[in-house]
Amino acid sequence: MEVDLPKVPLEAGLGPENPPCPVCGEPIFPWLELPGGAGLAHRCEECGLGILGPEGDRASVLADLESGDSGEGWITYENRDSTQARLTGGGWAGLETDHAFRFSPDAVELLLASDDRLVTDRRPRLGRSIPGMWQSLINTFTFGHNVALGAFGASRSVKAGQVWMRALDWFITAVLAVPVLILSIPLELIGTATGRCGRYSIRTTGP
Ligand SMILES: [Zn+2]
Repeated sequence: MEVDLPKVPLEAGLGPENPPCPVCGEPIFPWLELPGGAGLAHRCEECGLGILGPEGDRASVLADLESGDSGEGWITYENRDSTQARLTGGGWAGLETDHAFRFSPDAVELLLASDDRLVTDRRPRLGRSIPGMWQSLINTFTFGHNVALGAFGASRSVKAGQVWMRALDWFITAVLAVPVLILSIPLELIGTATGRCGRYSIRTTGP
């Protein structure tokens, strides 16, 4: 028998522990512990924004998004609503960037709309998102975070504290490299086909 539970609006959760999302105004909630003891990240359940440090304001979120501009009119961001982020949680390789926020496509559209702008084109970046899926899955087995991508200069990384842990991380990475790659390619392709690619580049109207 189904029980009719009273529906509580998200706004009811607003408070000092759950300040409003700088993009949509709904309360933010704890998301995950960042690798390397870097603190607790938060997320917005409504628009999907991920917040790795202070919640900031709309202007600081917009500036963070725009700092992903390649200079050729494309803004690139790691997708917090991607298959790889959903699947691996704290193992997600996309946590290791200099950005203070992690964007979902919904958060990007809302944020730009508040600046009277639109997304005019959006392209998946499989050349980076497949390695991202691969590293995210490997991260779920290692002490460190982004050990391989970090070694190749493709990402920041968090190394394990002890020498033996770092050695074991490399052993695990070597053993799992091929089988996890075989798994990563179809997973990321399926994710991309369903709008959940790990990394997107967008073009927008306006400045
Ligand atoms: Zn939000």
